[in-house]
Amino acid sequence: MSDAHILLVEDEPNIACGLIYNLEAEGFRVTHVKTGEEALSVPTGDVALVILDLMLPGIDGFEVCRQLRAIDPRLPILMLTARGAEVDRVEGLKAGADDYLAKPFSLDEFLLRVEGMLRRSEWYRPADSAQTTYVFGGNTVHLHEQRAETAAGEIVLTELEVRMLDYFIRNEGRIVERKQLLKAVWGVSPDTETRTLDNFVVRLRRYFEADPATPIHFQTVRGRGYRFVRAGDK
Ligand code: CA
Repeated sequence: MSDAHILLVEDEPNIACGLIYNLEAEGFRVTHVKTGEEALSVPTGDVALVILDLMLPGIDGFEVCRQLRAIDPRLPILMLTARGAEVDRVEGLKAGADDYLAKPFSLDEFLLRVEGMLRRSEWYRPADSAQTTYVFGGNTVHLHEQRAETAAGEIVLTELEVRMLDYFIRNEGRIVERKQLLKAVWGVSPDTETRTLDNFVVRLRRYFEADPATPIHFQTVRGRGYRFVRAGDK
């Protein structure tokens, strides 16, 4: 994993320089580009992780993210956003990013996040049970194939979406605390901010709930976390 190929999309020379230096010091191979257009021309076959700045000259990080997702739904994407720009984070996750880091960040935090994302994408396989196709509420989810048939049509699931669905399904009917989910799905400590998690649940509801505002399958358990139920018991 230490020689993993990382695609860095960052237009600010000082930031790019620091990141490249530290990634290479960790043994990673880095391809650095300064624009989204260049990023999209890099073959992603052996890219293990994309680190994508949001504010870029030309097309922005959201659009790059969407286009990368269209090419490769499984490619892990870490988006770099401006501090406190909640709207950017939500949009970034909607565009298909797996995680984000708000600028300015410490190098330690950055490297931990990078290593965490690479580790997760290495060890992750859907639960090794016979059943990897699940039906609920008019949706059919195929975990191994990373796709689902929903009322709105067929969708391709990102790796993190599959992992989260897998965890929910294996814990069907039980209250899943947010810290459990963070640990199981993202592999991060419970004191990490939980916005990412909540945004992912919003995403799942949008895919799978007839009315995302009043969820039947992905229920919020106030003060605790979430509960997945296959058949609505509202
Ligand atoms: Ca920038």
